[in-house]
Amino acid sequence: MAKRDYYEVLGVSKDASEDELKKAYRKLALKYHPDRNPGDKEAEEKFKEAAEAYNVLSNKEKRAQYDQFGEAGLNGQGGFSGADMSMDDIFSMFGDLFNGQGGFSGFSGFGGSRTRGGRRVNKGSSLRVRIKLTLEDIDKGVEKKIKVNKYVTCKTCSGTGAKPGSGTTTCGQCGGSGYIIQTQRIILGQMQTQSICPTCGGEGKVIKDKCNDCHGDGIVKGEEIITLNIPAGVADGMQLSFAGKGNAGARNGINGDLIVSIEEIPHENFERDGNNLCLQTYITFPQAVMGTSIEVPTLTGKVKFKIEQGMPSGKIYRLKGKGLPDVNNPYRRGDLLVRVDVWVPKSSTKEEKEVLKKLEDFEDFKPNPTSKEKSFFDKMKDMFS
Ligand SMILES: [Zn+2]
Ligand SMILES: [Zn+2]
Repeated sequence: MAKRDYYEVLGVSKDASEDELKKAYRKLALKYHPDRNPGDKEAEEKFKEAAEAYNVLSNKEKRAQYDQFGEAGLNGQGGFSGADMSMDDIFSMFGDLFNGQGGFSGFSGFGGSRTRGGRRVNKGSSLRVRIKLTLEDIDKGVEKKIKVNKYVTCKTCSGTGAKPGSGTTTCGQCGGSGYIIQTQRIILGQMQTQSICPTCGGEGKVIKDKCNDCHGDGIVKGEEIITLNIPAGVADGMQLSFAGKGNAGARNGINGDLIVSIEEIPHENFERDGNNLCLQTYITFPQAVMGTSIEVPTLTGKVKFKIEQGMPSGKIYRLKGKGLPDVNNPYRRGDLLVRVDVWVPKSSTKEEKEVLKKLEDFEDFKPNPTSKEKSFFDKMKDMFS
């Protein structure tokens, strides 16, 4: 197969650093990605060409061989010939390069295929579900059983797609390899191209009689109860991927993945701020003046703490470790921030007014903030930093 120089393909110099190679490849792969160029064969070829070049040049040994002996130095282990790889395979090979790239989430659009023993194996598509969790669920982690409608293996044919008793035969066109190689005469000699066998779609086998229930696909619509173990500390909008729990792949292929989106049910007491929880509560004016001890709810029961005498309204108390666990390290927990306000009655009786009038005249009850006392805004900054 006539191939362009790998450096030329990536548009970098012979002494390009690993980083430059990575950048160049990333740029090309995103530019020629099939999602952005639907149905464009030329873009697809360019995409595969770039993947092949990067596969070789990003490997120190292969690159040294290639530099010294050219393509011949690779002994046919240029890694892969772009032609027999699906887009899915290419992306999974260099997955870490594309992390965080918007627009290609999960690459599920490819529905794709994998290779098993050289032949193509169908991969089921991803399944997406959303589950609602309370903060209590999130606090401890939770096991959820969900019922999903999905493609499952056809029981009639055990997923083969063939009518029971009829079986499959080795594909006559490709002899079971899944590929066909075409030799073309060109001016310089012969050129060989390898492509997926159109008769068997790369599977290497063909069905004699199709199963009536699945029409040869080996999968049918069905439902399944799936048990999900949700780790502690997840947050609204997070997506968890459960490998192999998605749709079954055609003709005993590989199962797709199940993508679970987390939705957090608002809590009646707490607001969430990252792994911290925030709570607001009130005490009476006499309690604020004389000090007291109050009880507040947490996700795991009530806790008591002391309010010192002369508490300014709006003071925030930090209860260490009473927040939510970190999803990456359940032993590290956020805090519970309790904002304590002084309750001011909306109205008062004649008797109440008389008591309050007396208080008014005492020196200690007249506002007299010292310059040492920080402003509310400074305090908030400290608490949340
Ligand atoms: Zn069937
Ligand atoms: Zn075939």
